[in-house]
Amino acid sequence: MDTTQKYKTKESLLELYNKPLLELVFEAATVHRLHHDPKEVQMSSLLSIKTGGCAEDCGYCPQAARYHTDVKAQKLMSVESVVEQARNAKENGSSRLCMGAAWREVRDNRDFDNVIEMVQAVNDMDMEVCCTLGMMNEDQAKRLKNAGLFAYNHNLDTSADYYDDVISTREYEDRLNTIDNARKAGISVCSGGIIGMGEAVEDRIGLLMSYMEMETPPESIPINALVAVEGTPMEDQKPIEQWEMIRMVATTRIAFPKSVVRLSAGRTKMNMEGQALCFMAGASSIFAGDKLLTTPNPEYNEDMEMFKILGLTPKAAFADGEKPVTKADPIIDARKAKEAARAEELKAARAKVKMKGFEPRKVTIVDSL
Ligand code: SF4
Repeated sequence: MDTTQKYKTKESLLELYNKPLLELVFEAATVHRLHHDPKEVQMSSLLSIKTGGCAEDCGYCPQAARYHTDVKAQKLMSVESVVEQARNAKENGSSRLCMGAAWREVRDNRDFDNVIEMVQAVNDMDMEVCCTLGMMNEDQAKRLKNAGLFAYNHNLDTSADYYDDVISTREYEDRLNTIDNARKAGISVCSGGIIGMGEAVEDRIGLLMSYMEMETPPESIPINALVAVEGTPMEDQKPIEQWEMIRMVATTRIAFPKSVVRLSAGRTKMNMEGQALCFMAGASSIFAGDKLLTTPNPEYNEDMEMFKILGLTPKAAFADGEKPVTKADPIIDARKAKEAARAEELKAARAKVKMKGFEPRKVTIVDSL
């Protein structure tokens, strides 16, 4: 059933969204079964590798520096800590690790080099690696691809029409460009939205229309419900009914039959029955772990219990695409070679001083890169 032809216009998608709920779920479940194994749900872990202090003003986000929330800005995690967290996530059944940094954009600096090393290390652990690092150019995308990045997440969040009510510090077009850069580098695209931010149903459909207009729609579409956080401009938004999530998941599934639809933030406000209907309607991924970047998420044990009751099994890594090959990064290799040469020089200098009978002073190498 090629539903992409049937639901190509805003009107047809709107009509679909507003269908009697069980009719909509049935249609979505039928499409889902044609393209995916309905028993499999991917468990992904979302790790905040650089929390808070972000210069952007996304109205829903507690990590924006300008809002007074409980989030404390932290520096980038070490590669070792990320590897340890990835190992724990894998042991708990996650086959995908999404690393999020609260950056406006990727900068070509030491932090980005470290992210490249994180991607290399986690890809070598046979997990799908996804990053969400803000805007990036094509060269940066190529470096990430080269390191073994499987997917890049960059959400459009909402429709182009409602966008200005949510964010003012970057344009919708900027987001489309970043998605395009990931695409050009051969990275699979993860891009979705948030519902419950005060938008109209037409804006939810408008978001889907933005993906419909792309030459290749995202391989992965996360659907989030707003988690209203105190201190953000959206703190007073009322939680949406779970029926809205089910409708959005089902409509997305039908509109993009081959994409992975991810039931993402907002699950703590849903009961198991609501989530079950989302799985029935085509969601085939959840984020596991008690935190989603900085907002709450169901406990691991609760999810395992839900999987048992619903007869779901965690999906293996790379079921929806080939594992990327981790390649060496010339920038990091050059830096390491330079550091090694300087360490050798220092060693030789110390040895020379020692030969003359002096005890050399301790010298700290300051990295100038
Ligand atoms: S959503 Fe991302 S870009 Fe926007 S404020 Fe939060 S961390 Fe920054």
